[in-house]
Amino acid sequence: MPQDINACEQSANSLALMLMGLDAKLDVKLKEFRSLLKSNDVSDDALKAALSDAEAVYDELELDMQANINRFGDSFRRLLHGSTEQRRESLVGPLLQKDALINDLIQIAEPISAEIDKVLLHPVSEGTVNEDLDKVRERLSSRFLSLIEALAQLGDQDGVLVELSKSLSPTPDWETLDKLASKIITLLQERVTKEKEQFEDYLAELNLKLKRINDIVADDSRTLDEIKQINLDFNSSISQQMSDARDKIDQHSELNLLKNDLLESLDAITNRLEAYQSSYAGKLSNLNANKIVMNEHIQALESENVSLIKALQKERQLSMHDPLTQLPNRLGFEQRLNEELTRAQRFNQAISIAVLDIDFFKRINDQFGHLVGDKVLKMMSKEMKKVSRASDFLARFGGEEFILLLPQTSLEEAFTAVDKIRQRIESRPFHFQNKPVPITISAGVAQLVKNEATEEWINRADGALYASKNEGRNKVSTAA
Ligand code: GH3
Ligand code: MG
Ligand code: MG
Repeated sequence: MPQDINACEQSANSLALMLMGLDAKLDVKLKEFRSLLKSNDVSDDALKAALSDAEAVYDELELDMQANINRFGDSFRRLLHGSTEQRRESLVGPLLQKDALINDLIQIAEPISAEIDKVLLHPVSEGTVNEDLDKVRERLSSRFLSLIEALAQLGDQDGVLVELSKSLSPTPDWETLDKLASKIITLLQERVTKEKEQFEDYLAELNLKLKRINDIVADDSRTLDEIKQINLDFNSSISQQMSDARDKIDQHSELNLLKNDLLESLDAITNRLEAYQSSYAGKLSNLNANKIVMNEHIQALESENVSLIKALQKERQLSMHDPLTQLPNRLGFEQRLNEELTRAQRFNQAISIAVLDIDFFKRINDQFGHLVGDKVLKMMSKEMKKVSRASDFLARFGGEEFILLLPQTSLEEAFTAVDKIRQRIESRPFHFQNKPVPITISAGVAQLVKNEATEEWINRADGALYASKNEGRNKVSTAA
């Protein structure tokens, strides 16, 4: 008998050990049960009560475990579900920006080539010199130049773009301009195709990674189902053992026989617990391993995404700026112009534009060389930027020509602002070998008229600039 009790104790001990950490309360109950078995004057009722106590605690524990498993499953699903979509968004979103950049370029290029078509369809009659058309030709040519510069920022391995930009200055005739226009559009389209291919490659790779993550999720939900099943099986078998034990207490009058039977029951419970623990632990470690792998995948995706966004931002930034003066180029200007126009129209606000051009700049180049000319351009940009208001937007329009966008500014206010810039430039001569070299600018200002096309608006400012030049330069004129 003492051996039985010892064995019984051992079982109860190992049972208690198995459950240690799993649930302290059940542990206590089983310990109580064990000491009842050890005592000599235990009644059937006391054993029964102790057993139902343990049973009640076990039921609670079972509910807890179930809830834990559900919670684990839920948080797992949440981690992946809500965020898979968001992640997809955030991964693909910036790539669409890249498309937008190329589309910006095409959008600028296409109307220009349409304009050329128009001119070529209605050729100027022989012998007549049409100044307006010449201006259009110059303007188009300089637009193409900025386009090529923007494109070159995206890469020009074979130097095609450099060649093209050379063919654009001095301004070519209409026929040549037309040929160059088709060439540039073709290049743009090639670029779009290339970008699209790269984009598709990236998407394919992204899909593969997302698929891997999805596989892990599928694997995990299988594991969670298995855990649930293990738990159910375990629960029903333990309940069975518990009720068997209760039946035995009911049936036995002989305490020693009862103790033997209970010992068997405890052994059975121990075995079940052991089996349960190992499969439960195994599944849990599967889940954890999966979670780690998945987190690695997600982290890799995220860091890839961050560097991609950075590269895209840099590329976009480069393509929007003029490398010499660091001012926004025509592309950057067009973008800002669209934003400001939308705002001005929505709030019915005045908006003005100024075209500024350095006077006799050719002389600077001729006298001091192109490199000095470049330096002067840089200095002038800095000065002009310094004097213009923070809300105004200064861009290099091409060559030695600048454009200033003045949101929420009437014609009179714009005149004052631009004349301040003119005075500042006049008062700060550039120095060459310690000798002052006076530099001046001329400008034309125009306020946007209701329903006016942008091109027309800029043309009016250009006309005013032309007037300033005609009236002796170093002057700001306003357009009617
Ligand atoms: P105006 O007062 O009528 O404007 O005379 P201008 O000499 O300034 O005008 P024109 O249009 O005849 O010449 C502009 C010159 O600007 C010609 C060109 O060589 C020079 N230029 C254009 N872009 C650059 C550049 O990036 N660097 C340098 N150094 N010179 C440039
Ligand atoms: Mg000039
Ligand atoms: Mg000029």
